[in-house]
Amino acid sequence: MKQKKGKPGEFHHKRSLGQNFLTDEALFEQLVDLSGVGPEDCVLEIGAGAGGMTQVLSRRCKKVISIEIDDALLPILGVVLQKCGNVRLVHGDVMRLNLPEITGELGPFHVVANIPYYLTTELMNLLLTSQMPIQSISVMVQKEAAERIVARPGEEGYGMLAVRSQYAFNPQIVLDVPACLFTPPPKVDSAFVVMPRRERPVVAPLDEGMFFRVAAAAFAMRRKTMENNLIASFRVPREQAAAWMGEGALPAGARGETLSLQDFAALSDAICRSRS
Ligand code: SAM
Repeated sequence: MKQKKGKPGEFHHKRSLGQNFLTDEALFEQLVDLSGVGPEDCVLEIGAGAGGMTQVLSRRCKKVISIEIDDALLPILGVVLQKCGNVRLVHGDVMRLNLPEITGELGPFHVVANIPYYLTTELMNLLLTSQMPIQSISVMVQKEAAERIVARPGEEGYGMLAVRSQYAFNPQIVLDVPACLFTPPPKVDSAFVVMPRRERPVVAPLDEGMFFRVAAAAFAMRRKTMENNLIASFRVPREQAAAWMGEGALPAGARGETLSLQDFAALSDAICRSRS
């Protein structure tokens, strides 16, 4: 990774790594308050940056593992986190590290992070599809991404990110954060989303894999009816797709993007039953 030239010890934010840092101590405290983590909790932070949030998490939680990709931040973090004995800094790319192994020592844990925006969808998918014992995910994301996470059926941003997020977690936008509070300010406004894990998933499909396959089919071609999406994704004749829609008690002409998680579960169960 190429560092811009500057005086020794001078740090230059890298746009390519989504390095929009927060610096306001009161905002870090507020974010940690909103995330609901406390002295008994272990936390994974993704993107330590200059360590502002890491320090607050260290003070207020039991144990923190913080991941940072940028070598240039390591000397700064070494100084800033010197007295934070409960923080383990892991240098690497969060998408390539073995997260279950790294977080294994924590037991159940919470994710609290101001994440790099370029990674939002990939990283959320990684966290949401992992088998790690994540109790909650509290993340600063681009406002538009926050809206996609909480989107309801029929809303513009409703898609796989919403379905994956809302299946096992209960996401809420709890704070809007203007771009001017970041250094350097990003081009977009941000929002903090807090998602506690539900006691159990919001629906109980017979086959979870089939549930997500049906949901993915719904968004494959957004303007088409669910029936047409079933025909294309499952390679079945129209009569079969129509029968599944009927079994799931769904209107024949319904478009996939208007269906709820409950509808996807009903449809997925109809498919499973017809194949057993
Ligand atoms: N936590 C700090 C704060 O709130 O000020 C920094 C947040 S900044 C939005 C995101 C951080 O994630 C940057 O420090 C960046 O270097 C780091 N980062 C970017 N891509 C990463 C990756 N693939 N793996 C780990 N860290 C990454």
